[in-house]
Amino acid sequence: MKIAIDLDGVLADASKIWMRILNDRFNIKVDKSNVDQWDFWKKIGISKKSFEEVFDDAWKEWQSIDETEIGLKENIDEIKDFGKTDLVTARNKKTMDDVMKWLEMTKITFDEIVVVDENYLKGNLDYDVFVDDSPIQVMEIANLDKVALVYDQPWNSHIISRNNLIRIKNFTEVISYIKDSKFRNQ
Ligand SMILES: [Mg+2]
Repeated sequence: MKIAIDLDGVLADASKIWMRILNDRFNIKVDKSNVDQWDFWKKIGISKKSFEEVFDDAWKEWQSIDETEIGLKENIDEIKDFGKTDLVTARNKKTMDDVMKWLEMTKITFDEIVVVDENYLKGNLDYDVFVDDSPIQVMEIANLDKVALVYDQPWNSHIISRNNLIRIKNFTEVISYIKDSKFRNQ
C-alpha cells in the first residue's frame, strides 16, 4: 500500500496566521467559520493570486503554525508500518524551506517528501490512499478509483462519503481505515 498525506489543513493549521495577514492586508474581518468554501477568496472579493500570496507569507511564520491535532508524529509513524507513507504537498516551491523547518520542529517524518505545483491533481500520482482536505483533490482522486480520505474541515463539509471517498475526523480514523483495508486485502 502506498499512502500520500497532505500538509496544509491535514497536518499543519496555518489558518490563524493567514487570517490575521488577510484581515490586516485587506482590512476585513474573517475567521475560520467564514471559510466554508474552498475558493472563499471569491466570497471576500480578492483574487486567488492575492490569497496565495497571503498563504505563502503565513508560512514565513512557520514557528507559529499549529499541528491540526495532537500525536501526529506517533500516528504517522504507525501508518508507516502499513506501507510507503509520503508527504505529498501541492504548493509554491518557495515555501518549502519553511515547510522543512516546520517538519523538523514537529519531528514528523515521512518516507519521502513530494512537492507538486499548486494546481496539480495528486490523483495522477502512484498512491493507493490519499489523506487530503481539498474538495478538488479528493473528488479527482475518487474519480480515478483511488481512495480519498477527506480530512474534516469547514471548506470540505459539503463532500458526502461514498465508496472510495470517506470523511475522517482525525488520524485515529485514518489508522482504523488503513488497518481494515489491509485486512480486507489479505
Ligand atoms: Mg490541504
